Amino acid sequence: SEAMDRIVIAGAGQAGFQAAASLREAGFSGSLILVGDEAALPYQRPPLSKAYLAGKTDARGLLLRQESFFAEHRIDHRAGTRVTALDRGARQVRLSDGGSIGYDHLILATGTRNRTLPVPGADLAGVRQLRSLDDADALRAAIEGIRRIVVVGAGFIGLEFAAVCAARGLSVTVIEAAERVMARAVSPETSQAFRAFHEEAGVAFLFGAGVTAIEGGGERVAAVRTADGQSLPADLVVVGIGVVPNQELAEDAGLAVRDGIEVDAFLATSDPAISAIGDCVRFPTRFAAGLPGGDRVRIESVQNAVDQGRCLAARLTGRPAAYDAVPWFWSDQGPRKLQIAGLAAPDDASVLRRAGAGFSVFRFRDGRLSAVESVDRAADHMAARRLLAARRTLTPEQAADPGLDLKALATA
Ligand code: FAD
Repeated sequence: SEAMDRIVIAGAGQAGFQAAASLREAGFSGSLILVGDEAALPYQRPPLSKAYLAGKTDARGLLLRQESFFAEHRIDHRAGTRVTALDRGARQVRLSDGGSIGYDHLILATGTRNRTLPVPGADLAGVRQLRSLDDADALRAAIEGIRRIVVVGAGFIGLEFAAVCAARGLSVTVIEAAERVMARAVSPETSQAFRAFHEEAGVAFLFGAGVTAIEGGGERVAAVRTADGQSLPADLVVVGIGVVPNQELAEDAGLAVRDGIEVDAFLATSDPAISAIGDCVRFPTRFAAGLPGGDRVRIESVQNAVDQGRCLAARLTGRPAAYDAVPWFWSDQGPRKLQIAGLAAPDDASVLRRAGAGFSVFRFRDGRLSAVESVDRAADHMAARRLLAARRTLTPEQAADPGLDLKALATA
């Protein structure tokens, strides 16, 4: 294989950072440049809608590593710098500071950005989103001294945000176009349980509702108007209606994209000198077989970003292996912890398993275990990850049997 003197990583988030750290851990001794357009050192996003928003941890507590790590591992972190274009012929990236850097291998780890609400008034002051540390700081300040919050979108981030605000005694209404919470990601059973948890905590829901406009009092948001003619008063509106992958760099350079940068099982793009990892990537996996989009998916999770970073670092240091990690995810909503292992299609069958405090919903597709959603059942979640990794299944009858020793089955 070719000598690899310099690896450049575009995007200094969870995946880009992991690739850099794992490359060094695996013995890569060349030059390593991690270019990120955010000002901060690489940090974790999950607490932004949880502990950080609630004021239970500070910005330092979010950092993936302290500053000294980057110097010690010779990772040249270029903060506040955007990669603006790729020149594949010259193997160079252009930077927002006017410079350019040559690479032997380029890793695209540009993540996603939030979808914006395509309605009038969406740019009023007081209409916000939550993706970055800057967004979270703005929201922490915004929820001081206000009363009424409208959250648009009952996805993970919207619900986590709603739970933190409700716990502070704020009035929170969540507007959702679908008929249930987290509709794209979890079973009706899990949706129903979380709706009840949030309602008990004081959150109000409006389902099957489209937002047609954000109404202002002057420059500031005053209300949210829905398709059925309601006007919900709001001091703050938080929009959480999904993301779009940051794939323009790849697309403009002629790489294949389709709701994500397309990579093969080894996370390589159609250019052998360029790989891509994390939220911005569409990749093939056996866990997607039978999903509506075919056997390729784009996954937004810490697990996927970290495991793809590791997998790619291994390949670039001479230990190639196809990416085959079990997808898993968590979401903390108020006092409840949701954990998901595997990938379910919307119409996968559900088997509810109750034991003690929490419960798990086992999902089956074509008679095989596809995913397990666990609520306050960490042991079920760990067992599910093992079963899925080992390509083992169980029957729906076994899943429903409260006497079944799941852990024993998973470790057998
Ligand atoms: P990111 O971490 O988004 O990093 C991409 C980076 O690239 C960003 O800093 C971006 O600004 C930068 N960038 C983009 N374009 C360029 C460019 N041209 N040049 C330079 N830099 C660029 N996942 C879970 O599993 N559990 C959770 O509980 C959970 N909670 C979350 C809560 C919030 C509020 C958010 C926003 C996400 C949460 N996630 C959670 C998802 C998880 O954080 C992401 O899946 C993960 O961060 C993906 O890593 P990534 O490196 O692919 O993308």
